[in-house]
Amino acid sequence: MTSTIVGQNPNRIQNIVIVGGGTSGWLSAAYLSKALNKSGGTPCSITLIESSDICTVGVGEATLPTIIYTLSEFLGIPEPDLMIECNATFKMGTKFVNWSGQPDQNVFWHPFGGEDIFWHPLRQGSLTKELRIPISHYWLKRKLQGNPEPFDYSCFESVHLCAAKKSPKTDGNPKLRYLEYAYHLDAGLLANYLKQKAKSEFVQHIVDNVLDVSLNDKGFISHLITKNNGNIYGDLFIDCSGFKGLLINQTLQEPFISYSDSLFCDNAIAIPIAYDAEDKYDTRNGGINPYTTSTALSSGWAWNTPLVGRSGNGYVYSSAFISKADAEAEFRQHLGEKSLHLEAKHIKMRVGRTRNAWVKNCISIGLSSGFIEPLESTGIYLIEAGLENLLHNFPDRLFQPSCIANYNRIMREQYEEIRDFIVMHYCLTKREDTPFWKANKYHPAIPESLKEKLNLWQITWPDNPTIICREKIAKLFPDYSYTCILAGMGYLPKHSLPILDYYDDNEVEQNFLAFKNHADALKKALPDHHEYIKQLPAKTFKFQWKQRLSSPAL
Ligand code: FAD
Repeated sequence: MTSTIVGQNPNRIQNIVIVGGGTSGWLSAAYLSKALNKSGGTPCSITLIESSDICTVGVGEATLPTIIYTLSEFLGIPEPDLMIECNATFKMGTKFVNWSGQPDQNVFWHPFGGEDIFWHPLRQGSLTKELRIPISHYWLKRKLQGNPEPFDYSCFESVHLCAAKKSPKTDGNPKLRYLEYAYHLDAGLLANYLKQKAKSEFVQHIVDNVLDVSLNDKGFISHLITKNNGNIYGDLFIDCSGFKGLLINQTLQEPFISYSDSLFCDNAIAIPIAYDAEDKYDTRNGGINPYTTSTALSSGWAWNTPLVGRSGNGYVYSSAFISKADAEAEFRQHLGEKSLHLEAKHIKMRVGRTRNAWVKNCISIGLSSGFIEPLESTGIYLIEAGLENLLHNFPDRLFQPSCIANYNRIMREQYEEIRDFIVMHYCLTKREDTPFWKANKYHPAIPESLKEKLNLWQITWPDNPTIICREKIAKLFPDYSYTCILAGMGYLPKHSLPILDYYDDNEVEQNFLAFKNHADALKKALPDHHEYIKQLPAKTFKFQWKQRLSSPAL
């Protein structure tokens, strides 16, 4: 039964139906419930339907710093609760091993958080106050002069902290509190946590199979036909059904644009490995890494995402270059003895994007909308981006085409940016030791948008001097992310930024020294990563205890 309050839009969306109970389904449910069902307002009915016969993809454990905004700030989930419930650890970036094909540089890092490495050598001058030049350009100048110090250790404090297995934060010294970070989370536990949260906020949960989908005479989705619960009607449908795209691709026939010409990996194998019994913080190996490791193998790359109690491991490979059996054998060899008797999960990946993520009254979120392999952990980010974008373009039942087009443009740009960034990791390699790496080095189909950028970066790196108050065009990866990959792959311009010739080299040296001293000071002041995580239960306990004490009922 629908009702309308005086002054309210009679076309207000009143029923949202979400298909799918993976990370995207439950994050959508919790997010929309939080955004739409404000106390005192008119509630919107939200129903999530998931099948108990069709599994979730069950991977997706490394995130980007945006997750903090989504889970903690927007959904209001206390960090200690989240970390304990999801066996989570901190992630301050990714370590890339064996990607570049340069014998003297087979490891490089892509850390989070580069903003505070910008220097302001002109900040005293009144006219030039706003000019800032990123440290990467100074590093390049020194490198071209023969200084051997690696880019990442010279420019990012968090790389020093990653290598020393430090926590990005401490409660002991609030001044040191914040270094940018994200989480590694158990994907199954995260979906379950979000499910409990959404259900406690009145999201209706149906466990059933969607057998068919019925369209109205305008081609909009009218209702879902289920096995045991009859017809389920809605105004707005969110397709979170995974790679199959049950509503968006199968029902509404929106085509899928494959990125297989520029990204060759199309399969993955996952083998999680538990740490030794009684050692859930992996102290026997010096504690849990606060970073993801991505190691290039013969026909793709392997991830390692360390959690409390176990690590997530996977091999993302191209079936055009290695068979399923050979890939599994190579992966087990990479993981070592511990993996020998563990079950391997094989996953076929659909890499690319649905042409329009939003069609009529259906919005695809998560794998149904697209996926660009997990190399830079963008899967969950794209769910967050889809939901935020949906709030900005939230429809009524007239489904204004211009709002839909705006949503679709934003999502297309996000996918294309990520695609270009990921292709960069492959096509700049100097490896030629296997057919897969050769094919990447002599890449036949680098997107035009990336070609243009690479041409420019051959002359001058990104991260150009900027005027502080100028608004930057919103994009996922900041300039320094690109520079990390360019430096790591040895894609260096022949000359440093001309403007640097006007500045004092001695001052620059002092700044590099000050930077290193600061990184050392942080290393001393911050706790070990596993020690910080270990004391989380105590913090939660204290929090609950305090709440109980202050409760008027006690
Ligand atoms: P799924 O998990 O596939 O869920 C689909 C849901 O739809 C299920 O609940 C299923 O029961 C339901 N369903 C399907 N059909 C029906 C039907 N007919 N009736 C009822 N219900 C139905 N992302 C990251 O951010 N970081 C990572 O490190 C990362 N690693 C990844 C590694 C791999 C190999 C892959 C493949 C993905 C990775 N991702 C990663 C992406 C991440 O896993 C996904 O974005 C995330 O899990 C969301 O998946 P989903 O909910 O869209 O789909």
